[in-house]
Amino acid sequence: MTDTPHRPGAHGRAPTTIASAAQPRTGQNVKRILVTGAAGQIGVELVAALRARYGDDAVVASDLRPISDDHGPALILDCSDAEAIDRAVRHYDVGTIYHLAAVLSAVAEQTPLRAYQINIGTLLNVLEVARERGCAVFTPSSIGAFGPGAPRDGTPQDTIQRPTTMYGITKVAGELLCDYYHLKYGVDTRGVRYPGLISHSAPPGGGTTDYAVDIFHHAVRHGHYTCFLRADTQLDMMYMPDAVRAAIELMEADPSRLRHRNAFNITAMQVTPARLAEAIRKHLPGFRIEYDIDPVRQAIADSWPIRIDDSAARAEWGWQPRYDLEAMTADMLERLSVRADQAVGAADPPA
Ligand code: NAD
Repeated sequence: MTDTPHRPGAHGRAPTTIASAAQPRTGQNVKRILVTGAAGQIGVELVAALRARYGDDAVVASDLRPISDDHGPALILDCSDAEAIDRAVRHYDVGTIYHLAAVLSAVAEQTPLRAYQINIGTLLNVLEVARERGCAVFTPSSIGAFGPGAPRDGTPQDTIQRPTTMYGITKVAGELLCDYYHLKYGVDTRGVRYPGLISHSAPPGGGTTDYAVDIFHHAVRHGHYTCFLRADTQLDMMYMPDAVRAAIELMEADPSRLRHRNAFNITAMQVTPARLAEAIRKHLPGFRIEYDIDPVRQAIADSWPIRIDDSAARAEWGWQPRYDLEAMTADMLERLSVRADQAVGAADPPA
């Protein structure tokens, strides 16, 4: 992680400008960070990392679902309600919004209209509030922003996208909206195209790469997993500590170096179910994997890149992953095994 100070949005009432966004926060002029969708897979770990970096009180966690306020300010916030976002931004004196509230790829194919309304509607609400209140905005896009017409191996930063899923359509529209608000109004919008994210803290929210999280829980608990994607389905993946660090480092990056903003390709490893099972077997030799293909999620995965090119992120803000497949697998298994042992210990009757 870089050591540069946090650079929130503009400190005044005027729309954010690139110059104002680059001001380090100092003394009394501290603006808070608002995280939406903070109860989700990314939000839980992003809030913890932001609080560790900027202080518990500096980060406001919000979601449709209730969140504990044990470690800092928290509220129920429905991002479909623009006025509620505006109230929260004014009440907490917010300078930067990490907008994570969304419907993920597999769920979006089941409820495409709702996915469109939430993914586009909540982002527009956040961008409007950011424009009026001078906030910087981080919004994740996804490898799902690419469709089958994009080059699948070494997918460039700038290329044809034309996704065929509702999720992808909302992600491309979101990237363009964020660029529009930057170009037209000077809002400091930044984003990454996340690959599939692997984590142990919060369960995944209905994406096509959820198998890469589920497989670890099943390996530790049952020694066996039935995978919904084909053995050779290759997709980009990343361990959550890298994903969280990417968001923070991008928001702290020197804006004068950013040629792209929404959204940077980033990746850490290329994973297939078979390769992941093999990596797990190095630690748990008896682990078995079977396949029961879900045609909906397989079709989504088959429309996505097999390896994206993240050289623009590396060049423009120094992006560099720290976890490869082996390091991520070892860490996931160790943490989940400790948790499983603790659960067994807690269930043991007292001696
Ligand atoms: P998640 O589904 O785990 O969490 C999303 C959260 O948003 C949930 O807690 C949900 O309650 C909340 N939410 C939904 N509608 C809301 C609303 N109207 N108002 C407020 N909150 C609402 O998702 P995640 O995995 O944490 O993903 C966050 C972002 O990152 C999304 O934009 C997603 O598309 C993107 N992304 C995730 C991955 C991944 O593998 N997890 C990969 C690429 C991109």
